[in-house]
Amino acid sequence: MARLLEVRNLQTHFDTRWGVLKAVDGVSFDLDEGETLGIVGESGSGKSITAMSIVGLVPKPAGRIAGGQIVFDGEDLVPKSQDELREIRGTKLAMVLQDPMASLNPMFRIGDQVGEGLMVHRGLRGAPLREKVLGLLRAMRIPSPEARLNAWPHQLSGGMRQRVVGAIGISCEPKLLIADEPTSALDATIQLQYLTLLQELQERTGLAIIFITHDFGVVARLCHRAAVMYAGRIVELAKVDDIFARPRHPYTQGLLASIPDASKPAGKLTAIPGQPPELHRLPPGCPFAPRCARADERCNVERPPLEASDARHAVACWHPD
Ligand code: ADP
Ligand code: MG
Repeated sequence: MARLLEVRNLQTHFDTRWGVLKAVDGVSFDLDEGETLGIVGESGSGKSITAMSIVGLVPKPAGRIAGGQIVFDGEDLVPKSQDELREIRGTKLAMVLQDPMASLNPMFRIGDQVGEGLMVHRGLRGAPLREKVLGLLRAMRIPSPEARLNAWPHQLSGGMRQRVVGAIGISCEPKLLIADEPTSALDATIQLQYLTLLQELQERTGLAIIFITHDFGVVARLCHRAAVMYAGRIVELAKVDDIFARPRHPYTQGLLASIPDASKPAGKLTAIPGQPPELHRLPPGCPFAPRCARADERCNVERPPLEASDARHAVACWHPD
């Protein structure tokens, strides 16, 4: 499969009144066409800001990409203008946000919102546009799609709104869909249906997906590889099977141990003793050292790089398993 995305040493910083906050601090990973990468980690670990950096939506003016490269489909996105990024977002690259209500405009009917990208970027109008929109609603298994075209967002259930947002995300047949905790507002049955739809879509279209979640069960079900984030860094990156069978970073081990039944990963991550560090004053060494049973003097002073023991399994730890 061809390489679609290469993120190299990404640094995304916020200016805060406490100083510079390194929300993303040297993140690197690759993604191939048709591949699904899961990004997991506790709240505040930099998952969403990594995604927003890729799609060019880092909150301004406090936030900025301070370094690194994001090579997508052969072009570095970091130096691109807002106009260029908007065009790329409308076509090749789509992001589905955590909260479906935040992605839908309450003032516009469902059909118009699903069709907007097709109108703006593909120039579709009239009956062909309507047909295409109906096809998208059907692809997302939205019942009675004709009746939904004229519905308002508030008239739909949470699950239906999520599917509508999904339909918007895939409307211009992107090469990469980034889904940021798209299932958190939904009950388990609807989650499963939604994830299955995305998987079907991927099999049909070769879409690459970055799936951001704090739920390892979702990663196990949907992803080929997983990146575990901690304090703005990737601490472990491997095939999902390898991460589950043989987690090497103490943080990943803690996350997996906190799932009630590891043979059926379906639980949410629960807290590991201690607190994640404050990002505006990170310790000089490993950010996990203060919570780590294995930490020694070196861990407190020297930052472990993300290194691969073999091509498939990388870990940022001085004492990995
Ligand atoms: P996650 O998605 O993993 O829960 P985020 O990527 O949203 O975490 O946030 C990473 C860090 O960046 C957090 O410490 C958060 O407080 C900080 N952050 C996010 N948005 C802003 C902002 N607009 N201004 C300042 N700090 C922010
Ligand atoms: Mg988030």
